[in-house]
Amino acid sequence: MKNDRSKAAWALAIHGGAGDLGADGLPAERERAVRAALGEILGAAARILAEGGTSLDAVGEAVRLLEDSPLFNAGKGSVFNARGEHELDASIMDGATLSAGAVAGLTRVKNPIVLARRVMAASPHVFLAGEGALEFAKAERVALVEPEYFSTEDRRRALERARADAARSAPTEPETVGAVALDVDGHLAAATSTGGLTNKLPGRVSDSAIIGAGTYASDASCAVSCTGQGEFFIRGTAARDVAALLEYAGADLRSAAESVLRERVEARGGRGGLIALDRIGRIVCPFDTDAMYRAYTAAGDEAVVAIGRGEPDGNDESIRRRRGG
Ligand code: ASP
Repeated sequence: MKNDRSKAAWALAIHGGAGDLGADGLPAERERAVRAALGEILGAAARILAEGGTSLDAVGEAVRLLEDSPLFNAGKGSVFNARGEHELDASIMDGATLSAGAVAGLTRVKNPIVLARRVMAASPHVFLAGEGALEFAKAERVALVEPEYFSTEDRRRALERARADAARSAPTEPETVGAVALDVDGHLAAATSTGGLTNKLPGRVSDSAIIGAGTYASDASCAVSCTGQGEFFIRGTAARDVAALLEYAGADLRSAAESVLRERVEARGGRGGLIALDRIGRIVCPFDTDAMYRAYTAAGDEAVVAIGRGEPDGNDESIRRRRGG
């Protein structure tokens, strides 16, 4: 199996959210910590693919590790809603079968992405929310924590700032995490997880929980994970639109991803970014905020970790080289 010539080259991209950094930019210490975490988590998920593991396992593990890091707004380190509580959302999609799992409004599940995958694999449904999702988590023996587990001082200060501004939906720091992967069997997968937006209304559901909005994968086209003001990504069916442009209009990945961000999100007043990966391992990471925490790699390529504008946002060059033109 290992030397099977028909095997595709694997590829992987992760994000830790798009957002603005404020006039002073990211403090140097935080920037170092974010870059180190992105690099480590990319490496751990890349090993799964390099050893012949599935794209679903790779995106699930990348997002689980991002959730466990307090640096990112998902799992531990999630933002607070207007009531000073956490409500977590996540979704995952298998491009080979179009199977999907999603969860919303979780308050006690340590790793929402693990539960989303159980919903996909072990229930007849796609989407579970609130109380019923908690019951299902208990039945599936998914790890639970007390709600305070998710809280960090940084996020508490962000809530205080947001309350002072009465700003409910403007992105501040980069939010949300996600991953897209292509495995050696040519299968694509995508996963996204978030604590949502600081000061959101209780019960608000993000695009990150919605298949076709914040997450989409199909072996027919590409895998996509979005970040930004979720309401705009939901209305714009952003993730699915990127795939649809490839499937129906024959667009290339970069122009599809950039035009969805421009026409379906920005043109209506929304901001954010996305990572997308197609069947040949092309990766693009467009965003219209100050920054998007991102990292990517592919079989035979160096890992790239980037934060700001002016840093790499895709592997077009190496794909061109690999394809001999
Ligand atoms: N999309 C997420 C949400 O709307 C937040 C983000 O990615 O910044 O909750």
